[in-house]
Amino acid sequence: MCSAKSNVDLISNLRASKLISSDAVVAAMKKVDRANYVRIKSAAYEDSPQSIGYSATISAPHMHAHATENLLDYLKPGSKVLDVGSGSGYSCAVFHHLVGPTGKVVGVDHIDKLVELSEYNLKNDGLGDMLDSGAIKMVTGDGRQGYADSGPYDAIHVGAAAPSMPTALVQQLAQPGRMFVPVEKKSGNGQSIWQVDKDDNGALHYEELISVMYVPLTDRKQQIDF
Ligand code: SAH
Repeated sequence: MCSAKSNVDLISNLRASKLISSDAVVAAMKKVDRANYVRIKSAAYEDSPQSIGYSATISAPHMHAHATENLLDYLKPGSKVLDVGSGSGYSCAVFHHLVGPTGKVVGVDHIDKLVELSEYNLKNDGLGDMLDSGAIKMVTGDGRQGYADSGPYDAIHVGAAAPSMPTALVQQLAQPGRMFVPVEKKSGNGQSIWQVDKDDNGALHYEELISVMYVPLTDRKQQIDF
């Protein structure tokens, strides 16, 4: 329904359909040309997920919008963001346009070829300077451990579904900070998004939001052999 012929039209359609409501997220997503992050360029402006290889998927634009809006209060100029399961690099680009060159976005993926691909995509999307300056840093590693070197983070976005709440990531949240993370339901029946808030004193508040379907946050070997 929101599919379009250009990136700007895609984002405008998402807004008209009330799938994005904030001006800041509209502006950030208009700056990120999804065609630079997908394989099938003719389907770049469809509101649907797309395979990027290695059993990974770039999420549908409305899901990126939803995650970004959820984290928005923590994505201020100068904020630090961790994007676990960064895949194509698309969400890192959107976060970067919100936190700006004085902020920092760290993307972690455990598939080195996807980290290379994300750097290539970000350069094509005009963000080569930000990779050079370190305002955006793409790292190969097990995202379940986070990336403590650059933490703590005002916002953590997890782009793959964890089997249970990833405690190492909760630890790397700043005070205050927020994490958006898909987690398998205890019933074994699908996944839901959890919003984890850490307050000024370090107290944690967990809220279950919506049911979703993400690629699993898993072992590298399991994903490649899948
Ligand atoms: N936000 C990305 C989502 C990619 S799909 C995008 O829209 O492009 C989920 C990603 O999580 C995949 O790239 C996969 O390689 C990665 N992933 C899965 N388990 C991981 C782990 N343990 N550590 C780091 N990355 C992981």
